[in-house]
Parts: sequence; C-alpha cells; structure tokens
Amino acid sequence: MTMRKPLVAANWKMNGNAALAQDMLQTLAGHALPELDVLICPPATLLQPLAHSAHCLLGAQNLSQFSDGAYTGELSAALLSEAGVRYVLVGHSERRTLFGESDAVVLAKMEQAIAHGLIPVFCLGENLQQRQQEKTSEVLAKQLAAVYASHPEFIGKSVVAYEPVWAIGTGEAASPEQAQQAHAFIRQQLANYDAEAADSVRILYGGSVKAANAEELFRQADIDGGLVGGASLNADEFLKICQSAK
Ligand code: PEP
Repeated sequence: MTMRKPLVAANWKMNGNAALAQDMLQTLAGHALPELDVLICPPATLLQPLAHSAHCLLGAQNLSQFSDGAYTGELSAALLSEAGVRYVLVGHSERRTLFGESDAVVLAKMEQAIAHGLIPVFCLGENLQQRQQEKTSEVLAKQLAAVYASHPEFIGKSVVAYEPVWAIGTGEAASPEQAQQAHAFIRQQLANYDAEAADSVRILYGGSVKAANAEELFRQADIDGGLVGGASLNADEFLKICQSAK
C-alpha cells in the first residue's frame, strides 16, 4: 500500500480577515509540521498575504468554469495560478446547493483547474435525506462518475474530500466508522477507473472536524486528512487539528 502524506486544509468560506491571515501564518511558522501538508483556502482577497509562505500551501475556494473572457466577477484558473494558488476547492456542497453548480459545471471546473496546473480538491457527499434513504453509495458513485469516468487521469492529479452535507457546519461530524466506510467506498470506486491512482489519492474528511474529534477520524485507514471549515477560523484550534494528522 502506498504511503499517503496527510493533508489538512482550511476552508475559511466568506469569513476571516487580514488579522486572521497574519495570526495563522505566525502560528504555523512557530510549529514545524514536516510530516503533513497544510493548505489554507481563504477568501480571494486574502490570497495575496498568504502567498509564498513556507509554512502552508495556498488554495482558492472556487474558480471559473471558463478560461477567460466577459465573465464579470469570476476568477480564472490562470489568474489564480499567477497569484500563487496551487490548490482549488471544486464542487463544495455550498457551491452545489446555494449557487446551483451541476455535475457538468463541476466537471468543467475540474478541467480548468487541471489544464492550468492547479490541484483540485474535489468535494462530494450525500445529504441527510439521501443517507436516511440509504442512497449514500449511489450518490457518491454518481458524483465520482461525473468527473472521473471520462477523466480517469484526473485521479492522480486531484485530492478528494468526502463531506457529508449533514455534517457540514452542524457540529455533528460523521463517526469515524461512518467516515471510514464512505472513504473506503470512494477509493474502491476510483479503483474501477485507475487502481494505482486510487491507492495514492488523498481522501480528506470534512464536516464538523475539530481538535476534539480530529485524531480519531484521521486514524482511519482511508482518511488522509481533513477539510476544516468553522474550526479553521481559530489558528490555535486549527494547529491542534493539524498536529492530530501526524
Ligand atoms: C467545509 O466547509 O468544508 C466544512 C467541512 O465545514 P465545517 O468544518 O464547518 O463543518
């Protein structure tokens, strides 16, 4: 089995400010974390102050599905790359539900990211109703197929984030067993497209991760780190979560 380097990612959503960026940089600078990758995805206006840090990788929360042109308010993969961005969240449930991003749009964004050398963090997950109706596997398989069936070569160029919608921002994380089950299923599905890439792709868990539950989640065999929303808005809490991933 391939050793997968853990990755812990912060998704600030439309939160935080320049002071938090400074605080985060200082906190991370004070604690060496050589055994994992730390990724910060701040709002776009805070990308610049976080760029070129030796202590974290830089990610955007979104990108345009188009490469350039008359798309007021959008940011292309090329512009993000020029600003020092290396990673980008794609298909976050808030983008899918609040901004109507379909599987087709998510696919176009994956294509843009990869064409411009960005590493997409492909987010997927079932909602509460789908879990209650025991449709979790079906939903995950469909979301994965929408991208990787036509582009198996993307597996080795992505990070995957399993984020059950019912666990995002609710304080109710999936249990380590529930999360591990979903992660193992995702890896199996990806193995149908490319077994070698599926073995090495990092699959992050997201949904109410905090310092108190991170270690147990990250200890699961197919969980390779986390995507952290609310708890990443406090530098000390986020550091503790990162330290749980070693
Ligand atoms: C997220 O937005 O990706 C997320 C997982 O949020 P939270 O940690 O707040 O549940």
